[in-house]
Amino acid sequence: MIEAIVNSQKEFFKTGKTKNIDYRKQLLKQLQSELIKQENNITKALYDDFKKPEFESVISETAIVLQDLKRTIKHIDKWAKPKRVFPSLLNFPSSDYLYSEPYGTALIIAPWNYPYQLALAPLIGAVAAGNTVVLKPSELTPNTSALLSKIITTIFPPKFVTVVEGGVDTSTQLLNQVWDYIFFTGSVGVGKIVAKAAAPNLTPITLELGGKNPCIIDKTANLKLAAKRIVWGKFINAGQTCIAPDYILIDSTIKKKFYKVLEDEIISAYSKNPQQSADFAHIINEKNFNRLAEMLVDENCIIGGETNIENLYISPTIIDEPTLDSKVMEDEIFGPILPVISFKNLDDIDSIIRRYSKPLSLYVFSTNSVQAKQLIKQYSFGGGCINDTVIHFANHRLPFGGVGNSGIGAYHGKYTFDTFSHKKAIVKKGNWLDIPLRYAPYKGKLKQLKSLLKWL
Ligand code: NAD
Repeated sequence: MIEAIVNSQKEFFKTGKTKNIDYRKQLLKQLQSELIKQENNITKALYDDFKKPEFESVISETAIVLQDLKRTIKHIDKWAKPKRVFPSLLNFPSSDYLYSEPYGTALIIAPWNYPYQLALAPLIGAVAAGNTVVLKPSELTPNTSALLSKIITTIFPPKFVTVVEGGVDTSTQLLNQVWDYIFFTGSVGVGKIVAKAAAPNLTPITLELGGKNPCIIDKTANLKLAAKRIVWGKFINAGQTCIAPDYILIDSTIKKKFYKVLEDEIISAYSKNPQQSADFAHIINEKNFNRLAEMLVDENCIIGGETNIENLYISPTIIDEPTLDSKVMEDEIFGPILPVISFKNLDDIDSIIRRYSKPLSLYVFSTNSVQAKQLIKQYSFGGGCINDTVIHFANHRLPFGGVGNSGIGAYHGKYTFDTFSHKKAIVKKGNWLDIPLRYAPYKGKLKQLKSLLKWL
């Protein structure tokens, strides 16, 4: 069945229908109307999947997708148009162009943590660029994935875009097909499986992965604002965010003061009993609950630390000074647990950050802008913020993606269109003049060439 879907998409792509920009635009507009119509059902599905608060669903899922779609529809003609670039004098006379060409048939594999937005944002770009798409949403958010499938089926013929639901087996079968592009969002481990599957056919890939994201607070930081912005960025979606601060590195002289403001901010956001808060999401499933609960064993949870397996709840938790070989410092946490480690000098920071692979994001809280910029330049990571967390994700003019183990490639806004487009370079040579210098026989021409190269 999967093979038949892929073959039908390949046949459809060959007809050239998706190269028609008006056709792409027409379907994207229909998708836009349908997504607006379905907004309440989407936020309900997200709530049913893991008690995602409606406010968070709007700012981190539906609004982002609708804005992206609106922008894409507005700019698609401009983005898709061949761009004239300045020609090289060596080729005189010529006019040079960049053509944006769809790759062909694309596979998009999405994770569960922002199951709507992380499936649709790449899909919109892939369609805008003229690819056919098979989307495999996560099996861990069955309500959202079923709704996605329903919406896509309403709008697109399956030979253009289709959703294939399923878990690891389905994903493996999909990866066994020959694709023109694979866009994967998920864990580092599965990212490597995707890269291996793509290698035999040299299929181009984007890998949007995770990592252990440091958040540095120096003694010049505005602590109250830092605490507010860290609490928001860490506990939105109950910490199940790829760019959430994973651990805090704080100047030892301000740690005590920071804990006080941190506790105030957690209470102010989620009350003294976050389990009752309608604004705090729950853990996706028992497997992840157990993985996270194990991180709390034998640790000094100075804030939170409560768990309830019945409703997959883990409270916003701060762990004081875990050792670097503890479970919580082993790998990406991906839950509402925030370890805090104090430092005395920049060497301490350096030795901790360099223990881990290049993270997806890094945050610095400091009012010393020289120091903040220095730290940003010192480490390799996907993207980040000075004096805030997570919000770099929201600017469509900034490419979003990792580096090294946290990913390959980037997207958002026009970058998504470009990700799904091959840039074909074309030189249109004029016939009215043909400079003889480059042609053999070369005898007597080298001197001329060298002086020309000096002049260029
Ligand atoms: P995951 O890697 O377990 O699953 C992602 C997708 O891959 C799912 O659709 C799943 O069905 C499929 N999959 C799982 N195992 C597979 C296998 N063995 N072979 C083929 N396909 C397989 O990730 P997840 O748990 O859904 O998401 C959490 C991870 O994703 C975290 O590491 C997080 O940092 C990362 N993430 C990254 C971004 C980003 O934009 N960089 C965004 C969200 C999540």
